[in-house]
Amino acid sequence: MNFVKENNRTIPAEDKVFALSGRAQAAIAKKGKDAVINATVGALLDDNGDLVVMSSVVEAIKSLSPADYAAYAPITGTPEFKKAVVKALFGNYEPSGAVQVCVTPGGTGSITSVIKNYSQVGDCVLTHDWCWANYRNIASEHGRKLATFRFFDEDGNFDADDLENRLNELAVHQDQVVLMINSPAHNPTGYSLSNDDWEKVIRIVNKASCKVVLFLDIAYIDYAGEEDEVRAFIPLLAKLGDHVLTIFGYSASKTLTAYGMRCGAIVCMAKTEEDAEEFRRAAEYSARSTWSNCNRSAMVVMGKIYSDPELQAKVDEERRMYRDMLLERGKVFEKTLNDNGIKCVPFSAGFFVTIACDDPASVGKKLEEQDIFCLALAKGIRVSIASISKEKCVKCAEAISKLLK
Ligand code: PLP
Repeated sequence: MNFVKENNRTIPAEDKVFALSGRAQAAIAKKGKDAVINATVGALLDDNGDLVVMSSVVEAIKSLSPADYAAYAPITGTPEFKKAVVKALFGNYEPSGAVQVCVTPGGTGSITSVIKNYSQVGDCVLTHDWCWANYRNIASEHGRKLATFRFFDEDGNFDADDLENRLNELAVHQDQVVLMINSPAHNPTGYSLSNDDWEKVIRIVNKASCKVVLFLDIAYIDYAGEEDEVRAFIPLLAKLGDHVLTIFGYSASKTLTAYGMRCGAIVCMAKTEEDAEEFRRAAEYSARSTWSNCNRSAMVVMGKIYSDPELQAKVDEERRMYRDMLLERGKVFEKTLNDNGIKCVPFSAGFFVTIACDDPASVGKKLEEQDIFCLALAKGIRVSIASISKEKCVKCAEAISKLLK
């Protein structure tokens, strides 16, 4: 008997990442953690394999009152939270235009919200071919399709021409296209668009014959490099035309290493107050009709951190330490691959490195036989350097190189 209505979705027996991670956990339980490389998890772990929990964030959590956990929060978020998100997202940059914020359950909720409110059922949503697999699931969950442009050309450069072609193709059938770009420290490649790349995106989007909702998934921004440098593209967005609406997807899961608190935000930077108000109305309505309101305690924590310069400095400092640990792992991983004659997909920073290969499923299986757990994607192997030590980065890169040679 089948009761579930598939509704054009392909619902798998189990989530691929969580299933793989479960097998890695089982191997660790049997053979011990030194014998296993679990590079599946999209969460930051220290060199002992323990989840990074920032003590400065814990300090803020411990100062909460019972009502901070128990009370409902306003649907779009508390005023203190909204202020905190603007500070966390824009850093030392001033947003241009009219800004509105709506809290979401993690950055994931921001993707749901933008797809629901800015595309129609049956539409295509455009993104890069290398992308977080959940983009496709979220699109199909809402009756949308995912269209992709080639992220990199043959020389490994950002493929602006393909973006332009794909956008123009969609513009023939759609009066509006949601274009989702995940940068800096993209999942799964670790690529960050350069300012030159951004100039190209802006030129292409400005020339488009349809309206464009440019959705910038900046989930990993705080792990991409120096705070000001990784935000240097923000002022460029002021050059976008009136037919373009800029929306950011922000993840407190990553910024605070607090994934389970399920906190994020969708942030609109509109040209006019009317467009910003329209955003608020839609984001609030769809939030109410899906998850309703979000976790108040997480919002209070964000509010406390970003309204207390001393506490914010502590959090920033602590995160910088982990960010640098992660950057170091990335360098070591890439160097080991290169020393073995293998190249990864263009990488700059972040939680993941990806190596393109033929038959990734079989490569993934062979790695698993060596107790190395990495995610096999359609076109390559994704390694979560966020969850393995520098030493394991070397071992993992060597094992992959050996298999691919
Ligand atoms: N965007 C990308 C590219 C991600 O990889 C993730 C999480 O893995 C998210 C957004 C959202 O994360 P969360 O919902 O935990 O904030």
